[in-house]
Amino acid sequence: MAPPRKKRYKTYLCNPKLMIPKRTVRRHNETNAADSSILIVNNDTPSSSEQHNQSEDIIGCEDSDSDLSSINMSLDDISSDDNEISDPVEDSRGKEIFDEMALNDSLNSETTRFEALLMILHYSFRHGLSNSAIIDLISLINKIAGTEVLPPSMYLLRKIFSSDFRYDIHFYCKVCMTYLGKMPESEALTSTVCDVCSTKMNSKLLNDGHFFITMPISPQIKQILEEPGMEQKIFSVPSAPNTCDTLSDLKNGSAFSRLIKKGLFNINIDLSVTFNTDGSPIFKSVKNSLWPIQFRLNELPLEERFESHRNLVAGLWFGSKEPAMPTFFTPFLKEAKVLSKEGLVWGYGKASKVFFLLCVADSVAKPQLQNVKQFNGKYGCPYCYHPGEIVEGNQIRYPVHTMYPNRKNKEMRDDMVEAEETGNVVRGIKGLSPFCLLPYFDIVYGFPIDYMHCCLLGVVRLSANLWTSSANHSEEYYLSELKRKKVDERLQSISPPQCISRRPRPLSDMVHWKANEWRSWLLFYAIPCLDNILPSKYVKHMALLSSAIYNLLQNYISKCDVDTSNLFLHQFVIKFEELYGKKHMNFNVHLLLHLSKCVSVWGPLWLFSAFTFESGNGYLVKLVKGTKGASQQIASKYCIFASIPKCIQIYTVGNDVLEFCDKLMTYRRVKRAMKISKVTVISGFKFFNPDPEEMQALAEINVQDKNILFTKKIILNSVMFMIKSKKSKKCNDSIVKLADNTYCEAQKFIKLNNAYSEQQHLFGKIIRIFLSTSVAGTRSSDEHRIQVAISPEVADSELPLPHLGRLPADLQRAISGAREKTSGAERRRPRRHHASSRLVHLGYGVR
Ligand SMILES: [Zn+2]
Ligand SMILES: [Zn+2]
Repeated sequence: MAPPRKKRYKTYLCNPKLMIPKRTVRRHNETNAADSSILIVNNDTPSSSEQHNQSEDIIGCEDSDSDLSSINMSLDDISSDDNEISDPVEDSRGKEIFDEMALNDSLNSETTRFEALLMILHYSFRHGLSNSAIIDLISLINKIAGTEVLPPSMYLLRKIFSSDFRYDIHFYCKVCMTYLGKMPESEALTSTVCDVCSTKMNSKLLNDGHFFITMPISPQIKQILEEPGMEQKIFSVPSAPNTCDTLSDLKNGSAFSRLIKKGLFNINIDLSVTFNTDGSPIFKSVKNSLWPIQFRLNELPLEERFESHRNLVAGLWFGSKEPAMPTFFTPFLKEAKVLSKEGLVWGYGKASKVFFLLCVADSVAKPQLQNVKQFNGKYGCPYCYHPGEIVEGNQIRYPVHTMYPNRKNKEMRDDMVEAEETGNVVRGIKGLSPFCLLPYFDIVYGFPIDYMHCCLLGVVRLSANLWTSSANHSEEYYLSELKRKKVDERLQSISPPQCISRRPRPLSDMVHWKANEWRSWLLFYAIPCLDNILPSKYVKHMALLSSAIYNLLQNYISKCDVDTSNLFLHQFVIKFEELYGKKHMNFNVHLLLHLSKCVSVWGPLWLFSAFTFESGNGYLVKLVKGTKGASQQIASKYCIFASIPKCIQIYTVGNDVLEFCDKLMTYRRVKRAMKISKVTVISGFKFFNPDPEEMQALAEINVQDKNILFTKKIILNSVMFMIKSKKSKKCNDSIVKLADNTYCEAQKFIKLNNAYSEQQHLFGKIIRIFLSTSVAGTRSSDEHRIQVAISPEVADSELPLPHLGRLPADLQRAISGAREKTSGAERRRPRRHHASSRLVHLGYGVR
């Protein structure tokens, strides 16, 4: 154990045996004195406003005492980045401790020091502990152990865990937000004058928050590639299927196909990246937002690609103002350019080029990155030459009377050059975009349309607002209070499957609906809920959008589906103007015209939606405790967490410890899971005593066996099926779509013990689903066919529900279940149970 240090603060901090005199604590409580750090370490009340003041004081008084910086690290709400430029004293001490505490040493017969630290870190991330809480926890453990068994400072933890990952601080001009430079290089910044606006910088750039953080891209990608077994997963399976007629991943979209065909992208070794930036508010009371640059490797297998820990972070911008995008992206693009030209060396001397081809951003960030006019300006559409029209007041609207040609990569680049040379805006283009320098980046479709912002939070929300806004009370489509009540009744009678995390909320709560609630509304609830309440032409109109988006969200989309969706979307937009008037033809409605093109260029919509990055945003926001230095807090925790996989390879870690950590991080825990061929059984088996009807059904498949077992809950193809619960009506996972397009309510999942093989069967009732199309005369008691109103032209004919394929990863397993769940919405509609129960072979019967 380390001998007590001479310095007072450190002594208190490092040695739990030394008690801090109560008097000292009290005095600091009262006076809020300069060394209130002691107070905070001992009296942890994070994120109170009082504490912010105190920590500011600490920053202010950070002077000769070099040890202060490590104390600072143990506070959550201060500029902990100061430690990044750690002084030599700290460095040597860190190393000392590092050596002293042989991390592979056993603490007891079971656990090494490193394992203990690993578990503590997982525990603290899982429960969102502040830095000071982590340190207190370690101190507590040390106290119980009676000796300093674990390093009790954040600084030392970082020494151990994030040696390979570091973050950089970049400054920008406080007046015009131009990029100035990186922290160590720009220490002379204090005397710098901004090139653009000639403002003199003072030393307060850091304190005033005129900075952002970046984390280098290449070590993060490298770490993934060097994971055991990863190379095989990425490169051994050809990622482009043979059939070019089906879109299922980025590689079969036209953009990649062209790169591959031209030999510019080698699928056996090269990599590509999708990246995103979007703001998330951090504290509800304050207007501060966090804007991360997130990115992910497109070559990861689909099952893994969208997992939260695969969302990597390259930059963090924190503040009350939106980032100046070109400034924020300067270091990112610089590294991206190097990676796509020179490549990344990993493993044993392999070199992969990394192409940055897709940027997912909303309609506010995108124009800045692209350097074009916003949607509310003339020629504001970055995909076509629609000039826009000023309608009622000063609003730019996009009526459909004329179709304008699409923009092309080359044309847009030419316009950029012209704009740059002349200094004028050329057809909506303001000048060169920093993205022009990225190799093979398509300056038009490199910024694909994100359906979450454009469609769900745009058009779908707009329509609902139009129907419910009292300003439209004289319109045909207005939903009076009575009608809204009816819709709410239907909506709330729906029991969605558990994979749709929320029960439907009433229309009156619409302002609080999240994007995924709008998605469920569009894809599953809206049509049956509005049927016969909203005039049928409006329902049919909505069904066009619902159908089109559903098709573009499938896992496998045929070219034919894309064409059909394109047609539907065009019809939807044209009708929109007819039904709601020109004044509501906003940019989001117009964007729908370009949506299916994005799908043919890149593949299914879920590949480039903001949904997957949004959860990453949420995760990062949770890392913040307290307002001060939010981005540094995140950066330092992110770096620690990101380096854990590597550390696990360096130190010896037992499987039980890894399992424990995994458990901590996994939210859903399945205790009694058993895998029988393709089916995972997650509830116990019971003996099955068939009633006469069930006996008959068993006889139909020649089962005379008496020892039949049944269970209530299974998982098949990542979808959970569970028999209907008598207690809870909140969710329903019992509706199953069968291969012959019939629906069935599962009642028992049975297992037959055959001498030769094990078979599983689903036992349930066939349900007839009948969805009225609000077309008079189609309702007939004999014909219980599924009908969905698709378009005015085809509404009278029958259209099958879209094929239910494998689940889009982005939908978090929701959609298949939910499509089955549609029957939940339809349950209120006339339907019939088939006279007799039927047994269906699970192996091929259920999808
Ligand atoms: Zn400036
Ligand atoms: Zn357009």
